[in-house]
Amino acid sequence: MSNKRDYYEILGVSRSATPEEIKKSFRKKAKECHPDTNKSPEAEAQFKELGEAYDVLSDAQKRQVYDNYGHDGLKSGGYSPSWDFASGFPDLSDLFASFFGGGFGPSGFGGRGRYGPQRGNDIGVEVGLEFMEAVRGAQREVDISRSETCEPCQGSGASPGSGPTACTTCGGQGQIRQTTQTIIGHFTQITPCPRCQGIGQVVMDPCSWCQGQGRRAANKKLNITVPAGVDEGTRLRIGQEGESGMMGGPPGDLYVLIRVKQHPQFQRDGYDVISRCLLSYPELALGCEREIETVDGTERLKIPAGTQNGQVFTFKGKGIPVINQPNRRGNHYVQVEIQIPSKISGQEKRLLEQLRDLNAQVATHTTHAPKQDLKSRLKNWLKPPELNPQS
Ligand SMILES: [Zn+2]
Ligand SMILES: [Zn+2]
Repeated sequence: MSNKRDYYEILGVSRSATPEEIKKSFRKKAKECHPDTNKSPEAEAQFKELGEAYDVLSDAQKRQVYDNYGHDGLKSGGYSPSWDFASGFPDLSDLFASFFGGGFGPSGFGGRGRYGPQRGNDIGVEVGLEFMEAVRGAQREVDISRSETCEPCQGSGASPGSGPTACTTCGGQGQIRQTTQTIIGHFTQITPCPRCQGIGQVVMDPCSWCQGQGRRAANKKLNITVPAGVDEGTRLRIGQEGESGMMGGPPGDLYVLIRVKQHPQFQRDGYDVISRCLLSYPELALGCEREIETVDGTERLKIPAGTQNGQVFTFKGKGIPVINQPNRRGNHYVQVEIQIPSKISGQEKRLLEQLRDLNAQVATHTTHAPKQDLKSRLKNWLKPPELNPQS
């Protein structure tokens, strides 16, 4: 797990913040901690952190990956912060111009080599399953929309037969160097070439199939095999089924987020299943037998005489199979619960009265819960739930 700070926390916005709110908060905080105006030793680190948070949250696609999979999701997506601080901090005015004027050319999401081949973006899809489908595994056909390499131009963006030519603005370098004099010294700032977007090449005769993009939006049906044992929130990664890479880069991955419906009888705890068995007082006192439903079929449960309310019985290995290890399974736990009838017949009433009177003669010692205790327990029940001090 990453110990990086939450991007929303860094920007001081809620998880539901609009792009405008994110932009506004970033602008305010960037001014506060820009190393030109803030000379405290933490400012530099804060500014970098802020830039990284904004880079992700201001991009709808990266933000979605971050929301679903956190820092780790971005890492596996090949994301590395696209700010190049090695060449000094951007000037405040440049900073805002480049951030609010459309950004840094090709998305930095492809990771290293922003000016060369780029790995395609990861994409995500949700799959909903019934409880038993999650236990047994399932097949699903999902519709995904992603960008794929344009076939006619083979991803070059140039019309078939022609090719890209070196950009004259940057001399094919893809970057423009600018040295500025400030009160604290020279800063050399390297920015991607605005004409070729840092690629170093421009297409003079764009491919008409993809308008020179090299990639086209495509809808695809994919068959997904969900393994037995998945749970609500399980994420499956299907390699190379994400978006196509750019300039010969590898494709991204497809992440499948599993959603599982609740079961009316079974409650799941990891690979264990818990169910309840309602019994009457005579059944608990005298013992009985019951058929118990498990995910693996019906099991016979012997309830011995004198079983207490709430007692738990275990069927070992009758729980849910461990993902990709079908021979390992969790347990099924049955908790017995006494059922007190709300309506009884006259005959039942007479029998229970007899039983009560008989018990009263037999019981020589009776124990009462101390009055104090009951009162304080009642008070606790009536207390409103405690508010989380952090929220
Ligand atoms: Zn094309
Ligand atoms: Zn250029």
